[in-house]
Amino acid sequence: MSREKHCMRREDLSKYALNVLDRLCEKGYEAYAVGGCVRDRLMGYHPKDFDVVTNATPEQVKSVFKNCRLIGRRFRLAHIHFGREIIEVATYRGHHTEAQDDEDSTDRRALSADSGQILRDNVFGTIEEDAARRDFTFNAMYFNAQTEEILDFAEGIDAINKKEIRMIGDIRTRFAEDPVRMLRAARFSVKLNMLISDNMVALIDEMGGLLANIPPARLFEETNKLLLSTYGAKAFNKLLTLNLIYQLFPCLSASLRDQSSKEYLFIQAMLENTDARLLQNLRVTPAFLYASFLWYPLEELSHKLRFESGMSEYDAINIAGVEVLNRQVQRVMIPKRFTSTIRDIWALQYRLSKRTSKRPFVLLTHTKFRAAYDFLALRGQVEGGATQELAEWWTDFQKADEPKRRKMLGANK
Ligand code: ATP
Ligand code: MG
Repeated sequence: MSREKHCMRREDLSKYALNVLDRLCEKGYEAYAVGGCVRDRLMGYHPKDFDVVTNATPEQVKSVFKNCRLIGRRFRLAHIHFGREIIEVATYRGHHTEAQDDEDSTDRRALSADSGQILRDNVFGTIEEDAARRDFTFNAMYFNAQTEEILDFAEGIDAINKKEIRMIGDIRTRFAEDPVRMLRAARFSVKLNMLISDNMVALIDEMGGLLANIPPARLFEETNKLLLSTYGAKAFNKLLTLNLIYQLFPCLSASLRDQSSKEYLFIQAMLENTDARLLQNLRVTPAFLYASFLWYPLEELSHKLRFESGMSEYDAINIAGVEVLNRQVQRVMIPKRFTSTIRDIWALQYRLSKRTSKRPFVLLTHTKFRAAYDFLALRGQVEGGATQELAEWWTDFQKADEPKRRKMLGANK
Protein backbone atom coordinates (compact mmCIF):
# COMPACT_ATOMS: atom_id res chain seq x y z
CA MET A 1 0.00 0.00 0.00
CA SER A 2 1.68 3.20 -1.11
CA ARG A 3 1.57 6.23 1.19
CA GLU A 4 -1.32 7.87 -0.67
CA LYS A 5 -3.59 4.91 0.10
CA HIS A 6 -3.46 5.17 3.90
CA CYS A 7 -3.14 7.65 6.76
CA MET A 8 -0.06 6.42 8.62
CA ARG A 9 2.97 8.72 8.62
CA ARG A 10 6.46 8.76 10.12
CA GLU A 11 5.25 11.25 12.72
CA ASP A 12 2.86 8.65 14.12
CA LEU A 13 5.85 6.77 15.50
CA SER A 14 7.66 7.80 18.67
CA LYS A 15 10.98 9.55 18.13
CA TYR A 16 12.79 6.56 19.59
CA ALA A 17 11.06 4.08 17.29
CA LEU A 18 11.98 6.32 14.34
CA ASN A 19 15.56 6.57 15.51
CA VAL A 20 15.83 2.76 15.59
CA LEU A 21 14.19 2.29 12.18
CA ASP A 22 16.29 5.02 10.53
CA ARG A 23 19.60 3.76 11.90
CA LEU A 24 18.95 0.16 10.91
CA CYS A 25 18.09 1.35 7.38
CA GLU A 26 21.20 3.55 7.21
CA LYS A 27 23.27 0.45 7.95
CA GLY A 28 21.63 -1.29 5.02
CA TYR A 29 19.16 -3.49 6.92
CA GLU A 30 15.43 -3.80 6.37
CA ALA A 31 13.38 -2.51 9.31
CA TYR A 32 9.66 -2.02 9.84
CA ALA A 33 7.22 -0.99 12.53
CA VAL A 34 4.80 -3.88 12.82
CA GLY A 35 1.74 -5.27 14.54
CA GLY A 36 -0.39 -3.34 17.00
CA CYS A 37 0.98 0.12 16.16
CA VAL A 38 0.13 -0.14 12.45
CA ARG A 39 -3.24 -1.75 13.16
CA ASP A 40 -4.21 0.83 15.77
CA ARG A 41 -3.11 3.78 13.65
CA LEU A 42 -5.10 2.59 10.64
CA MET A 43 -8.13 2.24 12.91
CA GLY A 44 -7.80 5.84 14.06
CA TYR A 45 -6.10 5.30 17.44
CA HIS A 46 -2.79 6.74 18.58
CA PRO A 47 -0.40 3.89 19.18
CA LYS A 48 1.88 4.10 22.21
CA ASP A 49 3.78 0.89 21.92
CA PHE A 50 6.01 0.21 18.90
CA ASP A 51 7.38 -3.12 17.81
CA VAL A 52 10.18 -3.18 15.27
CA VAL A 53 11.22 -6.10 13.05
CA THR A 54 14.33 -6.37 10.93
CA ASN A 55 16.37 -8.79 8.85
CA ALA A 56 19.42 -7.99 11.01
CA THR A 57 20.30 -10.70 13.53
CA PRO A 58 20.22 -9.70 17.21
CA GLU A 59 24.02 -9.53 17.22
CA GLN A 60 23.97 -7.24 14.19
CA VAL A 61 21.38 -5.03 15.90
CA LYS A 62 23.62 -4.88 18.96
CA SER A 63 26.55 -3.72 16.84
CA VAL A 64 24.48 -0.77 15.57
CA PHE A 65 23.28 0.48 18.99
CA LYS A 66 25.40 1.14 22.06
CA ASN A 67 22.23 1.27 24.18
CA CYS A 68 21.20 -2.27 23.22
CA ARG A 69 20.75 -5.38 25.35
CA LEU A 70 19.91 -8.82 24.05
CA ILE A 71 17.29 -10.70 26.00
CA GLY A 72 15.71 -14.15 25.80
CA ARG A 73 17.69 -17.35 25.68
CA ARG A 74 15.95 -19.08 22.81
CA PHE A 75 14.54 -16.45 20.53
CA ARG A 76 16.79 -13.51 21.21
CA LEU A 77 15.29 -10.06 21.07
CA ALA A 78 17.13 -6.75 21.09
CA HIS A 79 16.01 -4.13 23.57
CA ILE A 80 17.17 -0.62 22.68
CA HIS A 81 17.04 1.58 25.78
CA PHE A 82 16.25 5.28 25.70
CA GLY A 83 16.08 6.32 29.32
CA ARG A 84 13.02 4.52 30.64
CA GLU A 85 11.64 3.73 27.20
CA ILE A 86 12.51 0.54 25.41
CA ILE A 87 12.08 -0.25 21.73
CA GLU A 88 11.94 -3.97 21.14
CA VAL A 89 13.55 -5.18 17.94
CA ALA A 90 12.89 -8.71 16.71
CA THR A 91 14.55 -10.50 13.84
CA TYR A 92 12.12 -11.96 11.26
CA ARG A 93 10.89 -15.27 12.54
CA GLY A 94 10.81 -18.28 10.25
CA HIS A 95 8.27 -20.98 9.75
CA HIS A 96 8.10 -23.24 12.74
CA THR A 97 7.47 -26.46 10.84
CA GLU A 98 10.50 -26.07 8.63
CA ALA A 99 13.45 -28.19 9.66
CA GLN A 100 16.84 -26.56 9.42
CA ASP A 101 19.63 -28.59 7.96
CA ASP A 102 22.62 -27.72 10.04
CA GLU A 103 24.44 -29.27 12.96
CA ASP A 104 22.39 -27.77 15.76
CA SER A 105 19.14 -28.24 13.92
CA THR A 106 17.30 -29.76 16.88
CA ASP A 107 18.02 -26.62 18.81
CA ARG A 108 17.07 -24.21 16.10
CA ARG A 109 13.87 -25.87 15.03
CA ALA A 110 10.63 -24.94 16.64
CA LEU A 111 9.45 -27.60 19.03
CA SER A 112 5.85 -28.56 19.48
CA ALA A 113 4.01 -30.60 22.08
CA ASP A 114 1.48 -33.37 21.36
CA SER A 115 -1.37 -30.88 21.69
CA GLY A 116 0.11 -28.94 18.76
CA GLN A 117 1.24 -26.19 21.09
CA ILE A 118 4.47 -24.52 20.04
CA LEU A 119 6.95 -24.67 22.86
CA ARG A 120 9.87 -23.11 21.07
CA ASP A 121 9.83 -20.69 18.25
CA ASN A 122 13.36 -19.75 17.48
CA VAL A 123 14.07 -19.91 13.77
CA PHE A 124 15.02 -16.82 11.78
CA GLY A 125 13.24 -16.38 8.47
CA THR A 126 12.05 -14.06 5.74
CA ILE A 127 9.54 -11.25 6.12
CA GLU A 128 6.88 -13.40 4.40
CA GLU A 129 7.45 -16.17 6.95
CA ASP A 130 7.41 -13.61 9.74
CA ALA A 131 4.01 -12.37 8.56
CA ALA A 132 2.62 -15.91 8.29
CA ARG A 133 3.38 -16.72 11.93
CA ARG A 134 1.54 -13.71 13.31
CA ASP A 135 -1.92 -14.32 14.71
CA PHE A 136 -4.59 -12.18 13.03
CA THR A 137 -4.58 -10.69 9.55
CA PHE A 138 -4.65 -7.10 10.85
CA ASN A 139 -1.53 -7.81 12.91
CA ALA A 140 0.61 -8.69 9.87
CA MET A 141 1.04 -5.18 8.45
CA TYR A 142 4.51 -3.64 8.20
CA PHE A 143 5.16 0.10 8.01
CA ASN A 144 8.28 1.30 6.20
CA ALA A 145 9.30 4.60 7.81
CA GLN A 146 11.49 5.60 4.84
CA THR A 147 8.85 5.31 2.11
CA GLU A 148 5.77 5.39 4.36
CA GLU A 149 4.52 2.32 2.51
CA ILE A 150 2.65 -0.45 4.31
CA LEU A 151 3.21 -4.09 3.41
CA ASP A 152 -0.05 -5.90 4.03
CA PHE A 153 0.65 -9.63 3.70
CA ALA A 154 -2.70 -11.05 4.74
CA GLU A 155 -5.26 -8.49 3.60
CA GLY A 156 -5.34 -6.97 7.06
CA ILE A 157 -6.75 -3.71 5.73
CA ASP A 158 -9.76 -5.55 4.35
CA ALA A 159 -10.38 -7.14 7.77
CA ILE A 160 -10.16 -3.70 9.39
CA ASN A 161 -12.64 -2.23 6.93
CA LYS A 162 -15.06 -5.08 7.56
CA LYS A 163 -14.32 -5.10 11.31
CA GLU A 164 -13.57 -8.81 11.29
CA ILE A 165 -11.02 -10.67 13.37
CA ARG A 166 -9.56 -13.17 10.95
CA MET A 167 -6.94 -15.74 11.80
CA ILE A 168 -3.95 -16.20 9.53
CA GLY A 169 -4.16 -19.87 8.51
CA ASP A 170 -6.33 -22.56 10.00
CA ILE A 171 -8.05 -21.38 13.17
CA ARG A 172 -7.95 -24.71 14.97
CA THR A 173 -4.25 -25.24 14.24
CA ARG A 174 -3.33 -21.72 15.30
CA PHE A 175 -5.31 -21.92 18.56
CA ALA A 176 -3.71 -25.28 19.31
CA GLU A 177 -0.24 -23.80 18.63
CA ASP A 178 -0.87 -21.02 21.09
CA PRO A 179 -4.12 -21.01 23.09
CA VAL A 180 -3.44 -17.44 24.29
CA ARG A 181 -4.63 -16.37 20.84
CA MET A 182 -8.17 -17.08 22.09
CA LEU A 183 -7.72 -14.41 24.77
CA ARG A 184 -6.17 -12.07 22.22
CA ALA A 185 -9.19 -12.52 19.93
CA ALA A 186 -11.46 -11.63 22.86
CA ARG A 187 -9.34 -8.59 23.67
CA PHE A 188 -9.20 -7.22 20.13
CA SER A 189 -12.93 -7.73 19.67
CA VAL A 190 -13.59 -5.53 22.71
CA LYS A 191 -10.77 -3.03 22.31
CA LEU A 192 -11.32 -2.47 18.59
CA ASN A 193 -15.01 -3.26 18.48
CA MET A 194 -14.57 -6.05 15.97
CA LEU A 195 -16.38 -9.23 15.21
CA ILE A 196 -15.33 -12.80 16.01
CA SER A 197 -16.85 -15.17 13.44
CA ASP A 198 -19.30 -17.89 14.59
CA ASN A 199 -16.79 -20.47 13.54
CA MET A 200 -14.09 -18.93 15.71
CA VAL A 201 -16.50 -18.61 18.64
CA ALA A 202 -17.34 -22.31 18.36
CA LEU A 203 -13.65 -23.24 18.34
CA ILE A 204 -12.94 -21.03 21.37
CA ASP A 205 -15.77 -22.79 23.16
CA GLU A 206 -14.32 -26.16 22.23
CA MET A 207 -10.64 -25.38 22.83
CA GLY A 208 -10.73 -22.99 25.81
CA GLY A 209 -9.50 -25.78 28.11
CA LEU A 210 -6.10 -25.63 26.40
CA LEU A 211 -5.39 -22.47 28.38
CA ALA A 212 -4.60 -24.81 31.27
CA ASN A 213 -1.31 -25.55 29.47
CA ILE A 214 -0.16 -21.93 29.49
CA PRO A 215 2.36 -20.82 32.11
CA PRO A 216 0.49 -18.91 34.86
CA ALA A 217 2.87 -15.93 34.58
CA ARG A 218 1.87 -15.40 30.96
CA LEU A 219 -1.81 -15.61 31.85
CA PHE A 220 -1.28 -12.94 34.51
CA GLU A 221 0.02 -10.59 31.80
CA GLU A 222 -2.87 -11.36 29.46
CA THR A 223 -5.47 -11.05 32.20
CA ASN A 224 -4.14 -7.62 33.13
CA LYS A 225 -4.25 -6.55 29.50
CA LEU A 226 -7.87 -7.66 29.32
CA LEU A 227 -9.17 -6.37 32.61
CA LEU A 228 -6.93 -3.41 33.56
CA SER A 229 -7.27 -1.62 30.29
CA THR A 230 -10.13 0.94 30.33
CA TYR A 231 -12.41 -1.63 28.71
CA GLY A 232 -12.33 -4.20 31.51
CA ALA A 233 -16.11 -4.41 32.05
CA LYS A 234 -16.71 -5.13 28.37
CA ALA A 235 -13.85 -7.62 28.33
CA PHE A 236 -15.31 -9.43 31.36
CA ASN A 237 -18.66 -9.84 29.59
CA LYS A 238 -16.93 -11.02 26.44
CA LEU A 239 -14.97 -13.59 28.45
CA LEU A 240 -18.24 -14.76 29.98
CA THR A 241 -19.98 -15.20 26.63
CA LEU A 242 -16.93 -16.93 25.18
CA ASN A 243 -16.79 -19.23 28.21
CA LEU A 244 -13.20 -18.19 28.88
CA ILE A 245 -13.72 -16.57 32.27
CA TYR A 246 -13.67 -19.92 34.09
CA GLN A 247 -10.40 -20.72 32.38
CA LEU A 248 -8.83 -17.70 34.07
CA PHE A 249 -10.74 -18.04 37.36
CA PRO A 250 -11.59 -21.73 37.82
CA CYS A 251 -13.10 -21.20 41.26
CA LEU A 252 -15.78 -18.73 40.16
CA SER A 253 -19.28 -20.09 40.68
CA ALA A 254 -21.83 -20.79 37.98
CA SER A 255 -24.10 -18.07 39.36
CA LEU A 256 -21.86 -15.54 37.61
CA ARG A 257 -23.86 -16.29 34.48
CA ASP A 258 -26.91 -14.75 36.10
CA GLN A 259 -26.59 -11.02 35.53
CA SER A 260 -28.71 -10.26 38.58
CA SER A 261 -26.54 -12.35 40.92
CA LYS A 262 -24.37 -10.55 43.46
CA GLU A 263 -21.36 -12.41 42.04
CA TYR A 264 -21.90 -10.87 38.61
CA LEU A 265 -22.95 -7.41 39.83
CA PHE A 266 -19.98 -7.10 42.17
CA ILE A 267 -17.38 -7.86 39.50
CA GLN A 268 -19.17 -5.73 36.95
CA ALA A 269 -19.31 -2.75 39.36
CA MET A 270 -15.65 -3.20 40.32
CA LEU A 271 -14.58 -3.24 36.66
CA GLU A 272 -16.70 -0.20 35.82
CA ASN A 273 -14.99 1.66 38.68
CA THR A 274 -11.59 0.46 37.53
CA ASP A 275 -12.26 1.54 33.94
CA ALA A 276 -13.35 4.99 35.13
CA ARG A 277 -10.22 5.34 37.26
CA LEU A 278 -7.98 4.37 34.37
CA LEU A 279 -9.70 6.87 32.11
CA GLN A 280 -8.92 9.56 34.70
CA ASN A 281 -5.31 8.36 34.94
CA LEU A 282 -5.82 7.29 38.55
CA ARG A 283 -3.85 4.41 39.99
CA VAL A 284 -5.32 0.90 39.96
CA THR A 285 -3.86 -2.26 41.43
CA PRO A 286 -4.27 -5.85 40.29
CA ALA A 287 -4.66 -6.69 44.01
CA PHE A 288 -8.09 -5.04 44.18
CA LEU A 289 -9.16 -6.77 40.99
CA TYR A 290 -8.16 -10.25 42.13
CA ALA A 291 -9.50 -9.65 45.64
CA SER A 292 -12.88 -8.89 44.04
CA PHE A 293 -12.95 -11.81 41.63
CA LEU A 294 -12.18 -14.24 44.43
CA TRP A 295 -14.29 -12.70 47.22
CA TYR A 296 -17.46 -14.77 46.86
CA PRO A 297 -15.58 -18.04 46.30
CA LEU A 298 -13.70 -17.17 49.50
CA GLU A 299 -16.91 -16.42 51.37
CA GLU A 300 -18.41 -19.71 50.32
CA LEU A 301 -15.36 -21.67 51.40
CA SER A 302 -15.11 -19.84 54.70
CA HIS A 303 -18.77 -20.61 55.48
CA LYS A 304 -18.08 -24.23 54.74
CA LEU A 305 -15.03 -24.26 57.02
CA ARG A 306 -16.98 -22.69 59.85
CA PHE A 307 -19.84 -25.11 59.43
CA GLU A 308 -17.58 -28.15 59.27
CA SER A 309 -15.05 -27.35 61.95
CA GLY A 310 -16.62 -24.62 64.01
CA MET A 311 -13.60 -22.34 63.66
CA SER A 312 -13.92 -18.60 64.26
CA GLU A 313 -15.01 -16.32 61.45
CA TYR A 314 -11.64 -14.58 61.40
CA ASP A 315 -9.69 -17.85 61.16
CA ALA A 316 -12.06 -19.14 58.50
CA ILE A 317 -11.59 -16.06 56.33
CA ASN A 318 -7.82 -16.30 56.59
CA ILE A 319 -7.64 -20.03 55.93
CA ALA A 320 -10.12 -19.85 53.06
CA GLY A 321 -8.14 -16.90 51.66
CA VAL A 322 -4.93 -18.88 51.51
CA GLU A 323 -6.74 -21.83 49.93
CA VAL A 324 -8.54 -19.77 47.26
CA LEU A 325 -5.32 -17.95 46.36
CA ASN A 326 -3.41 -21.23 46.14
CA ARG A 327 -5.92 -22.56 43.66
CA GLN A 328 -5.94 -19.34 41.67
CA VAL A 329 -2.16 -19.06 41.25
CA GLN A 330 -2.04 -22.50 39.72
CA ARG A 331 -3.85 -20.99 36.75
CA VAL A 332 -2.99 -17.30 36.83
CA MET A 333 0.14 -16.39 38.75
CA ILE A 334 -0.29 -13.43 41.10
CA PRO A 335 2.98 -11.85 42.25
CA LYS A 336 3.63 -12.00 46.02
CA ARG A 337 3.48 -8.22 46.44
CA PHE A 338 -0.17 -8.41 45.38
CA THR A 339 -1.21 -11.54 47.28
CA SER A 340 -0.35 -9.96 50.61
CA THR A 341 -2.49 -6.90 49.78
CA ILE A 342 -5.33 -9.18 48.67
CA ARG A 343 -5.24 -11.02 52.00
CA ASP A 344 -5.17 -7.72 53.88
CA ILE A 345 -8.25 -6.49 52.01
CA TRP A 346 -10.09 -9.69 52.86
CA ALA A 347 -9.06 -9.85 56.51
CA LEU A 348 -10.04 -6.20 56.91
CA GLN A 349 -13.57 -6.97 55.71
CA TYR A 350 -13.99 -8.89 58.92
CA ARG A 351 -12.17 -6.34 61.05
CA LEU A 352 -14.21 -3.44 59.66
CA SER A 353 -17.34 -5.09 61.03
CA LYS A 354 -15.99 -4.76 64.60
CA ARG A 355 -16.82 -1.23 65.61
CA THR A 356 -16.24 -1.33 69.33
CA SER A 357 -13.73 0.34 71.70
CA LYS A 358 -10.65 1.79 70.01
CA ARG A 359 -10.60 -0.61 67.06
CA PRO A 360 -11.91 1.79 64.40
CA PHE A 361 -9.17 4.31 65.26
CA VAL A 362 -6.52 1.65 64.80
CA LEU A 363 -8.07 0.51 61.55
CA LEU A 364 -7.99 4.01 60.11
CA THR A 365 -4.20 3.90 60.29
CA HIS A 366 -3.87 0.53 58.57
CA THR A 367 -1.94 0.90 55.28
CA LYS A 368 -4.65 -1.00 53.41
CA PHE A 369 -7.58 0.74 55.08
CA ARG A 370 -8.45 2.77 51.98
CA ALA A 371 -8.52 -0.26 49.69
CA ALA A 372 -10.49 -2.28 52.24
CA TYR A 373 -13.01 0.53 52.73
CA ASP A 374 -13.48 0.94 48.95
CA PHE A 375 -14.00 -2.80 48.77
CA LEU A 376 -16.59 -2.71 51.54
CA ALA A 377 -18.40 0.20 49.86
CA LEU A 378 -18.59 -1.77 46.63
CA ARG A 379 -19.95 -4.79 48.48
CA GLY A 380 -22.49 -2.55 50.18
CA GLN A 381 -23.61 -1.19 46.85
CA VAL A 382 -24.30 -4.71 45.60
CA GLU A 383 -25.41 -6.52 48.75
CA GLY A 384 -27.39 -3.73 50.42
CA GLY A 385 -28.63 -4.51 53.95
CA ALA A 386 -26.15 -4.73 56.81
CA THR A 387 -23.12 -4.48 54.51
CA GLN A 388 -24.39 -1.22 53.07
CA GLU A 389 -25.16 0.10 56.54
CA LEU A 390 -21.63 -0.81 57.67
CA ALA A 391 -20.06 0.88 54.65
CA GLU A 392 -22.08 4.04 55.29
CA TRP A 393 -21.01 4.01 58.93
CA TRP A 394 -17.37 3.99 57.84
CA THR A 395 -17.99 6.79 55.37
CA ASP A 396 -19.43 8.91 58.20
CA PHE A 397 -16.75 7.88 60.67
CA GLN A 398 -13.99 9.07 58.35
CA LYS A 399 -15.67 12.42 57.78
CA ALA A 400 -16.54 12.99 61.45
CA ASP A 401 -14.53 15.09 63.93
CA GLU A 402 -13.25 13.62 67.20
CA PRO A 403 -16.34 14.22 69.40
CA LYS A 404 -18.65 12.84 66.72
CA ARG A 405 -16.43 9.80 66.28
CA ARG A 406 -16.59 9.08 70.02
CA LYS A 407 -20.33 9.44 69.90
CA MET A 408 -20.56 7.06 66.96
CA LEU A 409 -18.51 4.48 68.86
CA GLY A 410 -20.64 4.97 71.95
CA ALA A 411 -23.74 4.18 69.90
CA ASN A 412 -22.26 0.80 68.93
CA LYS A 413 -21.59 -0.41 72.46
P1 ATP B 1 -1.45 -4.55 21.92
O1 ATP B 1 -0.22 -3.70 21.84
O2 ATP B 1 -2.75 -3.85 21.92
O3 ATP B 1 -1.33 -5.57 22.99
P2 ATP B 1 -0.34 -6.02 19.73
O4 ATP B 1 -0.97 -6.67 18.54
O5 ATP B 1 0.73 -5.03 19.48
O6 ATP B 1 -1.52 -5.41 20.57
P3 ATP B 1 1.68 -7.47 21.11
O7 ATP B 1 1.56 -8.52 22.16
O8 ATP B 1 2.43 -6.23 21.39
O9 ATP B 1 0.19 -7.16 20.65
O10 ATP B 1 2.32 -8.22 19.85
C1 ATP B 1 2.85 -7.53 18.74
C2 ATP B 1 2.60 -8.37 17.49
O11 ATP B 1 3.20 -9.66 17.61
C3 ATP B 1 1.14 -8.64 17.19
O12 ATP B 1 0.52 -7.60 16.47
C4 ATP B 1 1.23 -9.92 16.37
O13 ATP B 1 1.60 -9.63 15.03
C5 ATP B 1 2.38 -10.65 17.03
N1 ATP B 1 1.90 -11.56 18.08
C6 ATP B 1 1.77 -11.28 19.41
N2 ATP B 1 1.31 -12.33 20.10
C7 ATP B 1 1.16 -13.32 19.22
C8 ATP B 1 0.71 -14.68 19.30
N3 ATP B 1 0.34 -15.21 20.47
N4 ATP B 1 0.68 -15.41 18.15
C9 ATP B 1 1.07 -14.87 16.98
N5 ATP B 1 1.47 -13.63 16.83
C10 ATP B 1 1.53 -12.83 17.91
MG1 MG C 1 2.09 -4.14 20.89
